This record gives sequence, structure tokens and C-alpha cells, in this order.
Amino acid sequence: MRSPPAERLLVLVGARGCGKTTVAKELAALLHGEARDLDDLIESTVGRSISEIFATDGETFFRRLESQAMNEAFRDYATAKTAVCVLSLGGGAVLAQENQRLLREQATVIWLQADAATLVERIAADVTSINRRPALTEFPLSEEVAHLLASREPVYESVADLVVNTEAQTPINIANSIVKQLTQSEQL
Ligand code: ADP
Ligand code: MG
Repeated sequence: MRSPPAERLLVLVGARGCGKTTVAKELAALLHGEARDLDDLIESTVGRSISEIFATDGETFFRRLESQAMNEAFRDYATAKTAVCVLSLGGGAVLAQENQRLLREQATVIWLQADAATLVERIAADVTSINRRPALTEFPLSEEVAHLLASREPVYESVADLVVNTEAQTPINIANSIVKQLTQSEQL
């Protein structure tokens, strides 16, 4: 059993490459808890990579697994089964209405913001990201990123309690800034 570092689970949202997984680890370290990554949880439960699930069963099936994994993560947090305090989501996990409801009602949501050009740079330099996540459209990476960002930014904004610009900031600085802002607004 742990003493929870926050009443609500901290959840990082934002586009692929904005730094959710990286910042979640830094944030959890500052809070003396553990970080979980929703994509990792899905892969270990199903025993297949996200790319494989997309290729074999399609996006709709993957989104269902994503919602289930999110529900389980929230349940584990509420019942203090784990020392997890920060959950990072995949870029599209905020699309389902039921997930949005869960985030609004039960989480403190932090949106990590970055420009399309920065996202493309980070994704292109990150071997894990390139291999692991499927292309979601038939367009080249830069067009896909710009297109997804335009359609998803309003959703990130609508669920976010805190918005953090990640441009020209290191992950550790971003984590420190999140702790400071959540403490100031008494959300931590
Ligand atoms: P996400 O989980 O949001 O898809 P990741 O945390 O996997 O993003 O980060 C994608 C890539 O960008 C990784 O190679 C990571 O090291 C790098 N990265 C993350 N945050 C930053 C940052 N603030 N500045 C520079 N590079 C970053
Ligand atoms: Mg990630």
C-alpha cells in the first residue's frame, strides 16, 4: 500500500512525440511514485505490439483495448493497488467519449503541447516511436502530424486541467514546472 501522492491520478495527454512517456517518468520520480504508460499496459496484456494489433485487428479494436486498459488503470489507482501516480496515454486515447468522461471526472489532466514541426523532429529521431506506432493515415509523417494535431488539439484542450508548452524545455524542467503549477493551484 502507498500513501497516494495526489488524490487524483495525474494523466499526461498530447500528440505522439510531445513527450508524455518521457515526462511521466520524470514526474513520477519527483513524486516518489511510479509511471505507467497506457501503450505498454496494452502490449503486455495482449502480448502483441501496438503495430501488430493495428495491422491485424484494426484501429476500432485497438481503441476498445485502450478504453479497457484505461479503466483498469483508474480502478487500480482508486483501490491503491499500485504505487502508480502518473499515467501517460497514447495520442488518440482521448478520442472516445467514455475516456474523456473518465479523465474529466477522475484525473488531473496535463496536456503537453508542441508544434507540428517539433513533433515531427522528435518522432523522426526516435527509433522506438517510428517502429512501434503505426501510421494512422496514408500521408507522409509531417502531413499526418499536422492533420492529427488540428483535429485533436480541441479535444486535448477540453480535457486538460493544465497546459504546458514543451518547446525548448527539457523533460525534467517540464516535470518540475508541472509540480510547481499543480502545487500552486492546490491540485497536488
Ligand atoms: P510520447 O510518449 O508523447 O509519444 P515520448 O516521451 O516517447 O513521446 O518522446 C518522443 C521522443 O521525443 C523521445 O525520443 C524523447 O526522448 C523526445 N523528447 C521528449 N520530450 C522532449 C523534450 N522536452 N525535448 C526534447 N526531446 C524530447
Ligand atoms: Mg508514449
